Amino acid sequence: MYTVPKLDDYSPAALNRAARELKSAFESEAAATSAETEWKSLRDRWMGRKNGILTQLNDLWLKSAPGPAKREVGQRVNELKKIVEEQIDATLSRISSASSSSRLAQARVDITLPGTRRKLGVEHPLIRTMKEIVGVFKAMGYSVAEGPEVETDYYNFEALNFPPNHPARDTQDTLIIAGQQGRPLRERLLMRTHTSPVQIRVMEKQPPPVRVVVPGKVHRADTADATHSPIFHQVEGLAVDTNITFCDLKGTLDQAAKAMFGSSVRTRFYPSFFPFTEPSADMQISCFKCDGSGRLDGGRCGLCKASGWIEILGSGMVDPNVYGFVNYDAKKYSGFAFGMGVERIAILKYGVDDIQLFYQGDVRFLEQFA
Ligand SMILES: [Zn+2]
Repeated sequence: MYTVPKLDDYSPAALNRAARELKSAFESEAAATSAETEWKSLRDRWMGRKNGILTQLNDLWLKSAPGPAKREVGQRVNELKKIVEEQIDATLSRISSASSSSRLAQARVDITLPGTRRKLGVEHPLIRTMKEIVGVFKAMGYSVAEGPEVETDYYNFEALNFPPNHPARDTQDTLIIAGQQGRPLRERLLMRTHTSPVQIRVMEKQPPPVRVVVPGKVHRADTADATHSPIFHQVEGLAVDTNITFCDLKGTLDQAAKAMFGSSVRTRFYPSFFPFTEPSADMQISCFKCDGSGRLDGGRCGLCKASGWIEILGSGMVDPNVYGFVNYDAKKYSGFAFGMGVERIAILKYGVDDIQLFYQGDVRFLEQFA
């Protein structure tokens, strides 16, 4: 490693030689420097204020030079200092540009590689089922209406002809918004227990003819289990016009059942009760798995519990009392309403055995519907 020699000979030839040796020693050290830590040692060794080689030049060459040579030695020392300082800077730039270009090389993107394929999402089976049901009625000329999930007692019960002490008004069945004891009963807020209040809201806004389907979320004070959920979905329907009869109800719902479950299903109606329809009827379809025989592969059919029939919706002719709440002339107009549970239809269509699967967001379940 280079050390600064003492000079005995201050002739120009001797000074040239000493300067050449110093320059070539410095150049080879600078050339061998490739990392920033090495560069720092190089800088300290040559430019260190206290004992760096450039400082030593002052002591060993300049101060000990005889008077007449001082000027010449001083010039040479300054030249060497300038060269070393410039080269130290240049060495640092070389190192850092080399390391940044190696970083760039590492980060380089191969644009010829195939892109990252992201899986396409699919509609949730409940949304898909709800849209299918709505689509069936849209094709028959129905439009779509929606309403709020937080409803008043008036829209959810009173205007739908629920008597004041009807069990559905009990908090055992209905989720009530807290802190409204001071309000009149009809103004108290609750989570709607069915989509039927939208029937009232639609009829308040428009005169007959009315043909709407109402998809939406409803709430009941039920404990979650394999067949119950405190939140579920319904599609409600309402048709009001002159001369609408029970035949229209049957024909419409029979057509809808065939569109949803296949043209070979048969329908049957049997008496039921809802406060806002009179008469009321539940509709059953012939089991689409055993074709209504109740038997499957030599055993009993599990889907219809061997009965050959499956209940899918409630319906009825709109009770004339309901028209009183919306100023429809009950002597002039008649109509029918129906409602079905979207979960129930989806469970039947897709053979799902636990309603909770719809809400858990498990991709293994959901991707089966992709
Ligand atoms: Zn069956």
